[in-house]
Amino acid sequence: MLKRIDLTRDYQKHKAEYLEAIQKVCEDTAFSGGKYADEFDKEFAQYCGVPYASGVNNGTSALHCAMVALGIGEGDEVIVPANTYIATAWGVTYTGATPVFVDCTADTWEIDPDKIEEKITEKTKAIIGVHLYGQPFEFNKVKEIADRHHLYVVEDCAQGHDALYEGKMVGTLGDLGCFSFYPGKNLYAFGEGGSVTGYRKEYFDTIEMMKNQGCTVRYYHDMIGYNYRLEGIQGAVLSVSLKYLPEWTARRREIGWRYTKEITNPAITLQHHPENTNPVFHMFEVEVEDDPERFLAYMAEKGIECNRHYPVPCHLQNAYKHLGYQVGDCPNAEYLASHCATLPLFPEMTDEEVEMVIRACNAYQTA
Ligand SMILES: *Cc1c(COP(=O)(O)O)cnc(C)c1O
Repeated sequence: MLKRIDLTRDYQKHKAEYLEAIQKVCEDTAFSGGKYADEFDKEFAQYCGVPYASGVNNGTSALHCAMVALGIGEGDEVIVPANTYIATAWGVTYTGATPVFVDCTADTWEIDPDKIEEKITEKTKAIIGVHLYGQPFEFNKVKEIADRHHLYVVEDCAQGHDALYEGKMVGTLGDLGCFSFYPGKNLYAFGEGGSVTGYRKEYFDTIEMMKNQGCTVRYYHDMIGYNYRLEGIQGAVLSVSLKYLPEWTARRREIGWRYTKEITNPAITLQHHPENTNPVFHMFEVEVEDDPERFLAYMAEKGIECNRHYPVPCHLQNAYKHLGYQVGDCPNAEYLASHCATLPLFPEMTDEEVEMVIRACNAYQTA
């Protein structure tokens, strides 16, 4: 069975290097934050091309830190796409603010800039755009609306490491960028990890304090703190992986563009990739015209594991029932949620495996 994503191949390939990096951390017992986490912060900031990157324990915490750094809290509203992983909204909710969900476009499946303005109220403080599936959202249009209403723009880059918008790296466009290094993300830790990227020192002073129990001087706590530090082992592993990211991205693009060109079955709709973007194909999502569960079963029979991202859009999740959204509020996100399927895509896939997926997709017949 070809797995949707198989991390064992990378581990086997670079095992010696990973284990050596982990061993160093053990020998220095630099386990929580510390030297190896700090080194990775520097490397990641430089890689992205921003002055600051602050490593945290996961991408959800990165989003929470970004919200707090921007002063978002109780009574505020933040615009969030309905089509995203739920964690995009958690960071907003943790501060006591309210996520306000906006539909995606019918073709890019990213936040629809034309539907943002009608959701802005005097309580709105920020817009979180998500570069979902590794496809940059329409940043300039979102930014233009944000500027007109004096709102912050935060980028959720959890699926977008290395993606380019008009030639610029995601995570460098908005006020703050939030990354996840969850295993299976384009850049991943051997456990959990995340980072916030940006330009303004005062935001990073807050984030550094917040993630470190609310203190800069040990045992003197100046704000309500959290234990959100990046682990040393994760920092060390990420320093190894970061060297391979350009290579992985190139291979993801090779596979992603092959799928885009060669999957021609009219029953399978592919994501639209606007000219001014260079996506990184974190996940290859497709829209299956009949029943995606039937498609998944068909692919499994052909020896190909697929899954779905995401079967329920954020505004219809039980956790947000109290916000009062109804079916029909975000029709594009709802349609995608009930028709989506994710094809295997990871850098270590062989050309034969890529061809097998393409052939199976093209031979699929609707009921
Ligand atoms: C993975 C992900 C997150 C959360 O990151 P974690 O590291 O799992 O906490 C947030 N947003 C999006 C879009 C994601 O894909």
